Amino acid sequence: MMKIGFIGLGNMGAPMARNLVKAGHDVAGYDTAAVTVEGVSRAGSLAEAVRGMEAVVTMLPNGAIVRAVAEEILAAAEPGALMIDCSTIDVESARAVHDMAEQAGLLSLDAPVSGGTGGAEAGTLTFMVGGSEAAFEKGKPLFDIMGQKAVHCGPAGAGQAAKICNNMILGISMLGVCEAFHLADRLGLDRQAMFDVASTSSGSCWSLNTYCPAPGVGPKSPSDNGYKPGFAAELMLKDLDLSQTAADKTGAATAMGRHARDIYKEFVEDGGGRGRDFSAILETLSAK
Ligand code: NAD
Repeated sequence: MMKIGFIGLGNMGAPMARNLVKAGHDVAGYDTAAVTVEGVSRAGSLAEAVRGMEAVVTMLPNGAIVRAVAEEILAAAEPGALMIDCSTIDVESARAVHDMAEQAGLLSLDAPVSGGTGGAEAGTLTFMVGGSEAAFEKGKPLFDIMGQKAVHCGPAGAGQAAKICNNMILGISMLGVCEAFHLADRLGLDRQAMFDVASTSSGSCWSLNTYCPAPGVGPKSPSDNGYKPGFAAELMLKDLDLSQTAADKTGAATAMGRHARDIYKEFVEDGGGRGRDFSAILETLSAK
């Protein structure tokens, strides 16, 4: 049993903390919104959720918040404690937090997840992890509770790098699949026939085969549920913004990633996409 602090008990953090409790760990939680999670003792302050803990997990909205929270964690944490940030944030902030932790004598991991709220509830998340081997070994038993897979991707920031590269593929491939259905419609090609061919041909990919954006075609997906997320369009936009920021900083050539970001930005800000699944972009195309 470990003593664990959990900061950020939102849609993802609350079920993740609950799974740690179910596995027998002693978890103290802190969130700026007064959230209560069954089995998690509610700390009155961030410092209270950190003091005396062997590990502190954060699941927060963005890099600026993670940096600010990390400063407070480091001021209260025991030397040798492990800090695990599971938020999706920019690589630069992730590396800065690792540097701060190292200077304070703490172990640290960036460990963003895929699998969404369903995966968080079921304890089937995938963790993409950056940091030292020693930190990864210490964090692995916790990843095994909250998820079904943890990949040690490399040193500080490597987890966030893997996450934004993966989600850039996802954004681009979803748009490709939606455009293919849209073109099929305009050509009078039956959507089911398009699916039957492409899903077993070179066009096959997760966005088509597993998460088909066309309702009534392929396995059950958010399109069969009025495009209720699933993976909300604004979260896809957040991740595409992160990949473009990283591309701009490194000079990487990501023309498709940039275009995907621009399309999702328009969808979320002016196209009624906020609060809808990211595959609902098919409807926008169909309306053109
Ligand atoms: P959320 O907004 O539901 O939860 C964030 C929580 O952090 C909120 O409860 C908020 O009150 C709390 N918070 C904000 N500032 C704080 C502070 N200074 N101290 C303590 N608590 C603070 O968001 P979420 O959906 O749980 O996502 C969390 C992270 O996980 C994000 O980085 C997101 O990109 C990532 N993520 C989300 C999903 C998803 O499907 N929701 C999937 C993968 C990754």
